[in-house]
Amino acid sequence: MGWGSCILGREVQPAEAVKRVATRPVGRGLWPWAAPLLLVAASCASYPPLKGRVPEGPGSGPYGGNPPTYREIETHLRSAERLRKDPDRRQEALDEYHWVLEHTRPGTTQHTLAKAGKSLLDKQVGYHYPGTIRRAVWGALAERPREMDRHSGMWKWITVHHSAMEVPARVLSSQPVGQEAVRGIQTSHMNGRGYGDIGYHFLVDPAGRVYEGRSLKWQGAHAKGKNNVGNIGICLLGNFENAPPTRQAQAALHGLVASLRSGFAIGTTHVVGHGHWTSTKCPGRHLTTVLNRYH
Ligand SMILES: [Zn+2]
Repeated sequence: MGWGSCILGREVQPAEAVKRVATRPVGRGLWPWAAPLLLVAASCASYPPLKGRVPEGPGSGPYGGNPPTYREIETHLRSAERLRKDPDRRQEALDEYHWVLEHTRPGTTQHTLAKAGKSLLDKQVGYHYPGTIRRAVWGALAERPREMDRHSGMWKWITVHHSAMEVPARVLSSQPVGQEAVRGIQTSHMNGRGYGDIGYHFLVDPAGRVYEGRSLKWQGAHAKGKNNVGNIGICLLGNFENAPPTRQAQAALHGLVASLRSGFAIGTTHVVGHGHWTSTKCPGRHLTTVLNRYH
């Protein structure tokens, strides 16, 4: 049972529960520590539900417009609850929570519930992979925001590439060489192709280091056009047409993929190689075999 389950869960008729709470003046100006008590109390209380429009609600003052009915607020909250369980529809859930936040006063129970729901979803968006070599360390050029599309919605795909560079793994395993390779890719993407930043979100070297690429604030530029929407790009340094990635690189890739999958609820069938999207040898025969193990 998570937050709000007393309100929206099975113990109380969901259609009535929020309505009941909505009618309670005690919800207004609630002290933060009292919120959990109120949630418990609300599931046990049995006052008759009121109908009509929210009396002290958003109809006047800063909100303006027609105040929503209790039923409307309840409908939006319940819809958010339902949508947030589906990884593909979390953005819609966020929109529903935003609606409730905009249409209820801070301190009311509905507002508190929407805030809690929104913060749970937000956590899944603010992602950082531990141990990543930061852009400042590898000497990244500044991104050009105007050349990029902001990421919205959920991350649904992970696409793996190789850099196709013919540099022996033992050479690329040195951090200075790895960093130089990553800088080289960024320069060719920005200066050669006019991208706003390096096209991939993460890069992995043969020693298993993970480099921070383009921020997850932005859509990647690695799978062509619309395929980049909701698609995280990872590039392994090296060419895997004739040889597999090192053990360390594979382990790092698995760790990163596992973390991204759990952070963004991405299914195993949505971890693919570049060849999934278009006819290309990328990410090489051997790395493609490694990726097929996910399916
Ligand atoms: Zn590729």
